[in-house]
Amino acid sequence: MQIVIAGGGPGGAVCARTLAKAGHRAILIEASRSSDKPCAGGLPSMLFEHYAIPDLLVKQRTSGVIFQAPSGLRIHAEFPEGQYIATVNRHEFDSHLRWAAEDAGAIQVDGRVLGYDEKGNKLLVRYRGPDGNVRTTEADYLIGADGAHSRVARQTMGELLPMVIGIQEVIEPVPDRMQVLGNNCLFNYSPAVSPDFYGWIFPKGEQVSVGIGTRLENRTKLQTLLNRMKEMHSDLLEGGKSIKRNGALIPSGQYKEHGLRRVLLVGDAAGFVLSASGEGIYFAMRSGEIAAEAIVAFGEKRSDILVSKYTDMVNREISPIFNYFSKIERITYKSTVNREVFVRLTKDKFMARKILSAFSTKIRYRTPFFKKIAVMFELLAIRLNVALTVSRHPDFGK
Ligand SMILES: Cc1cc2nc3c(=O)[nH]c(=O)nc-3n(C[C@H](O)[C@H](O)[C@H](O)COP(=O)(O)OP(=O)(O)OC[C@H]3O[C@@H](n4cnc5c(N)ncnc54)[C@H](O)[C@@H]3O)c2cc1C
Repeated sequence: MQIVIAGGGPGGAVCARTLAKAGHRAILIEASRSSDKPCAGGLPSMLFEHYAIPDLLVKQRTSGVIFQAPSGLRIHAEFPEGQYIATVNRHEFDSHLRWAAEDAGAIQVDGRVLGYDEKGNKLLVRYRGPDGNVRTTEADYLIGADGAHSRVARQTMGELLPMVIGIQEVIEPVPDRMQVLGNNCLFNYSPAVSPDFYGWIFPKGEQVSVGIGTRLENRTKLQTLLNRMKEMHSDLLEGGKSIKRNGALIPSGQYKEHGLRRVLLVGDAAGFVLSASGEGIYFAMRSGEIAAEAIVAFGEKRSDILVSKYTDMVNREISPIFNYFSKIERITYKSTVNREVFVRLTKDKFMARKILSAFSTKIRYRTPFFKKIAVMFELLAIRLNVALTVSRHPDFGK
């Protein structure tokens, strides 16, 4: 089979590699090999185990997280043994994944996919080459791995998914100040830096990525929110050298089926980003791999059921993680008190380990344990609410 993959980010590259390894002709069309996707590049330890990513690509392997509550309270928690979040430079990381695809036999083509036409059992994929000329190539299947603005998804599904937005500034702090962060990521849950989600600082060797995510309605406040995040962490960032500031859309939500007929969508094009954390690299890679596995298993004989098989495979593995994390998201970001409670939970060593494991391994807790956490959460929230109400009472302190 000949499969065209539109987009050579993490999703497309892993898909092309898996197809080529299975002996199929995988054509990976990438619009801009030199591009550096606006991204913090924070990756969970399970990704490194699953995809054998070379150490050379790691900018920093963090051993813990500093959680900052809306009240300003900072709590430091260590990852359990063997778990971590590591950071990479996206240009290097994506180039490595594309090289690995080529090494497995995939063909890399420079070009921007414009769309496709269906012709019997084949697709005719149109793309514009670097010389400006439009060319076509035939395909049995097309993978839409062309990111949040996916042309393939727009043509196939009729519309793009709803979006949120992420913005970051890469800063080289004054070296002495790096000790404020130590070997940790920092997550700031104050609604002042993001009324919808959170702010982050990821260390990347001598640099850090400072960023926030928010809903599109707040896009006019983006720069203000990021500046506020920088002010709140001036103990680390003051005097630092700004390297670049950039941002991009992040899809939120997924389609009912992850493709149509001979087209499968992976990664951001399919909406596989956890909106609670803005994390999408692992899910792009895994969905790319699953799409390839579905094509290998069903592509030759059962093209009629390919999309539903792929959707089932994704729904069995990825969707439960999304449902689980969206529950946590709904509870955590519901109110300022809940944000405060979420951070305060990490004061408890056992809870901290559980929360950090969820970040680094994507494990989900069984329902009874989750319910226990929810009850603890509610109790703490009530206690904190009462404490706040009492402390705001005019008679308080008399
Ligand atoms: C500010 C910010 C910070 C983030 N931080 C993190 C983080 O720390 N950790 C994490 O896991 N996720 C993070 N994300 C999300 C992550 O960047 C994406 O989920 C991930 O890149 C999705 O991978 P992908 O392969 O689906 O798409 P992309 O990485 O977007 O790759 C798509 C590729 O397709 C190419 N392309 C686009 N259109 C075409 C076309 N028409 N034809 C051919 N090629 C095309 C592009 O050049 C690109 O190389 C962040 C996002 C933002 C905005």
